[in-house]
Amino acid sequence: MITQRVYIRRAVSAIIALLLIVLLPLPAAKAEGEVLLHCFSLGKADSFAIVTGEGTVLIDCGESGQGDIILEWLKQQGIDRIDTLIITHFDKDHVGGAAKVLKKIPVSRVLQSNSPKDSKEYRKYLSALALAGLEAETVREELSFTLGDAAFTVYPPERESYAKDPSNNSSLVTAMRHGECSFLFTGDAESARLQELVEEKLGQFDFLQVPHHGVWQTQLISLLNMVQPEAAVITSSEKEPEDQATVSLLEKVAGQILLTREGEVDILSDGSSLSVCQEIFAAAA
Ligand SMILES: [Zn+2]
Repeated sequence: MITQRVYIRRAVSAIIALLLIVLLPLPAAKAEGEVLLHCFSLGKADSFAIVTGEGTVLIDCGESGQGDIILEWLKQQGIDRIDTLIITHFDKDHVGGAAKVLKKIPVSRVLQSNSPKDSKEYRKYLSALALAGLEAETVREELSFTLGDAAFTVYPPERESYAKDPSNNSSLVTAMRHGECSFLFTGDAESARLQELVEEKLGQFDFLQVPHHGVWQTQLISLLNMVQPEAAVITSSEKEPEDQATVSLLEKVAGQILLTREGEVDILSDGSSLSVCQEIFAAAA
């Protein structure tokens, strides 16, 4: 199944890129002082684990039934607790696996968006929270915290509700900075929310989780002009791929485009540069 690994080490200044292809398993752990971002390969669904020297932040949990994939990876890494779980919004491809995760691993803090949604997945999430004795914090004001050397800021939606695409537009957006390296996670933000991000002038980021699985929206032009990412990750599936217009735009402004449907993506930050590693699935013969 695994055919190759591609390492691309790219200075933040984007001067040097070194490409190596080897046939080895993924690294078991990051080195001291590094921050590891793991982008799960879950089809058109999101989950991102950020592992610092002090603990772990998990952003979203994929679909119902995908919690086990997340738990298995955490176990392989020797991670036995989650410090902060961020649920960007309550669509099933983001909150679906949360119930399983909450039931199987201790979680210290849960941050969630302000737009609840009556669904089977949401109800299971609420039950699992109650079972774990946790009360999720609904983020309504910009919230910052640190975990080891990594500094996080969570940006809430500016409106209590949106006329168009209310759930996606209520996505929490998370920025993470580790030394000179910066990461931006945008959930499923659509037009109105992307407009807010541009108006907030969040600035440039080395890593971008492309909003809403790479679905095209005009506001991506302003967002990408602002972010100018070195590495852009899209969480889409073969069945529901990203829009070509999004890829064409990224080809103009992003250093590299990584599709989790081609394999999970690991990004290591040493505080001054990023190392990107993707284990690419073999194409069907
Ligand atoms: Zn989604």
